[in-house]
Formats: sequence, C-alpha cells, structure tokens
Amino acid sequence: MTQDFPKHIQQLQEEILKLKAKDDIFLMAHYYQRPEIQAIADVLGDSLGLSRIAQKEAKSDTIIFAGVNFMAETASILNPKKTVYIPDVRATCPMARMCSAATVIATKNEYNLPVVLYVNTLAEAKAHADIMCTSANAVKVCQSLNSKSIIFGPDWNLGWHVNWRTGLDIIPVPEHGYCYVHDKFTVADFQTLKEKYPAAKITVHPECRPEVQQLADHVGSTSGIKNFIKNSEASDFIIGTEQGLEFVLRKETEGQKGLHFARSDGICRTMKLHTLEKIRRILLKHPKENIIKVPEHIAKAARKGIQRMLAIS
Ligand code: SF4
Repeated sequence: MTQDFPKHIQQLQEEILKLKAKDDIFLMAHYYQRPEIQAIADVLGDSLGLSRIAQKEAKSDTIIFAGVNFMAETASILNPKKTVYIPDVRATCPMARMCSAATVIATKNEYNLPVVLYVNTLAEAKAHADIMCTSANAVKVCQSLNSKSIIFGPDWNLGWHVNWRTGLDIIPVPEHGYCYVHDKFTVADFQTLKEKYPAAKITVHPECRPEVQQLADHVGSTSGIKNFIKNSEASDFIIGTEQGLEFVLRKETEGQKGLHFARSDGICRTMKLHTLEKIRRILLKHPKENIIKVPEHIAKAARKGIQRMLAIS
C-alpha cells in the first residue's frame, strides 16, 4: 500500500500505522486528501460515504478525520461519545462559511418552505434544516419532500442541478454560494481536451457551473465519477473535479484508463492542509485544540437532518 512513495514518506506512513494500531485509532480520509494520506486511511470516501461510515462502521473510540471541518463535525455529531480529531484546524470549507445560521433562519421565515442543506455547511446552519443532502443524493432527497419549491443551499450550482433533474423550484440560500474549486471549470477547459481526445467521455461534479454540466456525458458526486469511469467501456475521460480523486482512480482502474483532469489548478487548498506529520502529531500528543466537538444543543438539532438523509440514501 505504501510502496509507491519515497522512502521518508514510507517511514512516516509506517510509524503512523503502528501508532494508530497501538491506540486503536480510526483514520478517515476524503478523496481530496493528499495521496500519501489516502494510502494509509482506514476508509476513504466522499461526504456521503464518510457520513455513512461514521454512523455505522467507526468502531474505535477515537477518529482522526482528514477532511474539512464540516465533515469532522458530522462525524462527531453522529458519534457523540467518540473523540474526533482534525489534523489541521484551519481546514475549513469556504462554501460552508458562506451559509450562516442567520441567513437560513431568515430565508425560512420569509418562504416557509422545506429547507435542504448540503452537508457542506457548518453545524449551526445544519441545525435549522429539515434534511441534509450530499452531491450524491441531492436529487433523491429533494424529491422525497413532496414540495414543489425548496429552500436549498449553499451551492447554487448544485441547486441548479436539482432543478435541472427534477423541475423543482429552488430558493437558494445564500443567494449565490459556490465551491471555488469546481466553479472555476469552464466550457473551454473541456473543449481543449476534447479536441485532443475526441472519443473521451466527459464526467463532472454537480458543483460545476450549469454550462459545464450540460456539456458533460455524466454528472455525479466524487464517488459517482469514480464508478462511472470504472464501469464505462470508454478508455479516456475528461474529468471536472478536484485533483485528489486521481489517486484512487489510478489505483482502481489499474492504469488502464486515460484520466485527463480538465484543469491542473482544480485543487482545494484547505483539504491539502493535512499532512502525515500533522497526523503523527495527533497520535503522539492527542492535542485538545484539534478536537472537533459540536455543542450538544446544536448537534442534537443537526443530527435529525443528517439521520433523515441517511435513512433515505
Ligand atoms: S472542494 Fe469545494 S466544497 Fe469541497 S471542501 Fe473544498 S471548497 Fe469546500
């Protein structure tokens, strides 16, 4: 598992694996993490996959979550008795920060409609939603509500995607939230590569802009993109998502598919703040300042929406 990395990285990975085993600590990592972290994680996944695992499979009392803080919060909310560490506390999601609890409350008061929030929100905003969704299940979650109009946020592009697939009216909250990583993909990025690889299939994340989603052969979550590539008979793919997915794609397709990321700067900077050194520090020092804990009154309210989502996913 660790043999493809330089010697000093392998040594660090082996040290972490030993420390982790000694203290029975569960390492969860998102697909956008650095390859050397993904290679030694107990589980890898996208937001939905990791939420499910946090609820059902995280057996250890201590979790190290290599992802951004809303993901670690979700793990903590679903496992209130466990200690959840984040290797670098600065790993936040700029899009989650665009959606305050006050904005959600104000929009809810104005429209009196069901509120669906993407899991990419902070716990205090989640506490005011009826149900959460991920990019993998947003359409299904919104359809489950039996309402023609829905308050949806914070990702405007994902809200557009739900409207595109279902015809439901979407009231965005906030007015225009976005993921700076996915929102930067343009039609021209794909056209340039399509000229080079005319038979390639285009697969993009629903956080990309509408015109990018419309030109794609497939639109899906990070897991959806991975499965599309694995199961497709095509040999080349032009990909519109964060670069970190390349590690698992190369591994699972055993180098048999041509993987062409549409932009070389599709990188989430805060996801990359976590390093092996910071994970080792958590294992050696158990620093209190790296524990993610949501106050119980907020966690209790947020948990309902997360569990409601998991029940229908
Ligand atoms: S990739 Fe986008 S949505 Fe995901 S954590 Fe980074 S900024 Fe947030």
